[in-house]
Amino acid sequence: RRQSLEEYTARPAVTADGTRVELAANIGSAAEAEAAVRQGADGVGLFRTEFLFMNATAMPGEEEQFRAYREAARLMEGRPVIIRTMDIGGDKELPYLQLPKETNPFLGYRAIRVGLVRQELLRTQLRAVLRASAFGAVKVMFPMISGLQEWRQARSIMTEVQGELKEEGVPFDEKMEVGIMVEIPSTAVLAGLFADEVDFFSIGTNDLVQYTVAVDRMNEHVAHLYDYFHPAVLQLIRTVIDASHKAGKWTGMCGSMAGDPLAAPLLLGLGLDEWSMEAGRLSSIKQRLEGLDRAECRDLAERILRMDTPLAVRQELEAFCSAKI
Ligand code: PEP
Ligand code: MG
Repeated sequence: RRQSLEEYTARPAVTADGTRVELAANIGSAAEAEAAVRQGADGVGLFRTEFLFMNATAMPGEEEQFRAYREAARLMEGRPVIIRTMDIGGDKELPYLQLPKETNPFLGYRAIRVGLVRQELLRTQLRAVLRASAFGAVKVMFPMISGLQEWRQARSIMTEVQGELKEEGVPFDEKMEVGIMVEIPSTAVLAGLFADEVDFFSIGTNDLVQYTVAVDRMNEHVAHLYDYFHPAVLQLIRTVIDASHKAGKWTGMCGSMAGDPLAAPLLLGLGLDEWSMEAGRLSSIKQRLEGLDRAECRDLAERILRMDTPLAVRQELEAFCSAKI
């Protein structure tokens, strides 16, 4: 008997062979954490904090940020909450920050690049995140990391902030995990080097696709070329997951590929550890996972990684999935 999607919200995601899969939600505000729990999320895989900044008329201070992060942690009731530092720039403007106008904003001054120049912004945010880590299973990750030097610089700012808090006697989780988003091909290629230093990876396919195939994710004229089933993107995803496992770390995915039931057998076969998506997609992914066998999906992934076009990949996945129903 096929069950209605609502029946899936209350139970964990388990594959046909009994593998437990960690499914998380993407949120844009602390309040959205409530809906995430209601729809059956095991955690928050991506808290897009820039909305906290975009919905304000002046830069939110440490206290206000701290309250928002603590609230998300509280609503998640002990489940992990991955807070991403501000990803401003690109298509996301912030009037009161007065970022320069650019010809290629997606290739420009954005996300961690802003944070490493305007360090007071990053420090304030990290203080708020660290303070919230005393109230739940909070983790942090940096967006748009393109090389090891950026990661190390961000990490050392974090270490300095931890030192400050310690000196002030402010409680925080000293073991809080610190990860990076993998959404730039250079970082995916070097995942083996990153894996020794980061606690985890989260693959952002929305940007990773855009930068791998040089297709603006907002441009309808080239939308037909934008496809996460592009073989080059799949090789990068595989590289990242394998590199993390080799180093005893884990990989999540918070781009929209993670919420696509057609991609589920492939991602399961590749060994993705955590899947984060819009909360409304959780039930259909759970439903799909229940019909999948992990060993079978590993073979499928091997086959798919040898394919040469997005179309061939899609057809293989469609054939595989329709045989399951
Ligand atoms: C991504 O790039 O896949 C991602 C999750 O980040 P955003 O969509 O916020 O750029
Ligand atoms: Mg992104």
